[in-house]
Amino acid sequence: MSAISPDEEQREHLAARLAAVRERIAIAAQRSGRSAADVALVAVTKTVPVATIRAAHALGLVTFGENRVQEARDKIAQLALPGVRWELIGHVQTNKAALAAQLFDRVQSLDSVRLARLLDARAASLGRRLSVLLEVNVAGEASKSGFAPDELLAAATEIAALPHLAPEGLMTVAPLVENLEQVRLVFRRLRELRDRLRASVPLGDREQPGERGAAGQTWGQLSMGMSDDFEVAIEEGATLIRLGRALFGTRPAR
Ligand SMILES: *Cc1c(COP(=O)(O)O)cnc(C)c1O
Repeated sequence: MSAISPDEEQREHLAARLAAVRERIAIAAQRSGRSAADVALVAVTKTVPVATIRAAHALGLVTFGENRVQEARDKIAQLALPGVRWELIGHVQTNKAALAAQLFDRVQSLDSVRLARLLDARAASLGRRLSVLLEVNVAGEASKSGFAPDELLAAATEIAALPHLAPEGLMTVAPLVENLEQVRLVFRRLRELRDRLRASVPLGDREQPGERGAAGQTWGQLSMGMSDDFEVAIEEGATLIRLGRALFGTRPAR
């Protein structure tokens, strides 16, 4: 009888979690009259070792989210996986902006016009256009970064004028509360803010081709929903959900 190797056991575990997550996405999408194909899964790999990320990739995951630029740089260099997208989901210190513009396929955590200008300048010198989402601090939590809802329109207008950024939508992190209906209101508010931007901040050709989301409209992406609340986010229109623990288990404390 051959023993199951730890690697194999880990892969089985991950495969089971991924299957369960896919099932829950499908059910939430169906419940809200949406297609599961319109909800992209970002596997959040902060603190997750490269061997596990490799296993996740082998299971078909191709979009990974990291919240620290330096940690991501080391992993991206070690992994060198083909066809993979890396998304930055954590606050970027301005001294890391240049590196972020270089490493990531999309910055979801764009939270100031100052950072936008730095990313734009770096993207220009790299000869690329960088996809971004504007992070919104919907509930006005002091501990969170992101634009306040009442400053979003002005900021989005300035950011939309930067030639080397491609704004694609909004991102938020919901408050840590037990009551999912409270969280639902936050997600709904993000969608309403997006609808307002869509009506008043035209992007022209400023998006990347193919990034308009299912409806084919500008500001198409709504990145909202994490392990504890992604089904509610899907019901409220999420096009990107960011899952860490639901896929990889509990993280060690930093
Ligand atoms: C860690 C993190 C996630 C994933 O959180 P889980 O609760 O593990 O799913 C999603 N988004 C952001 C911005 C994060 O920092």
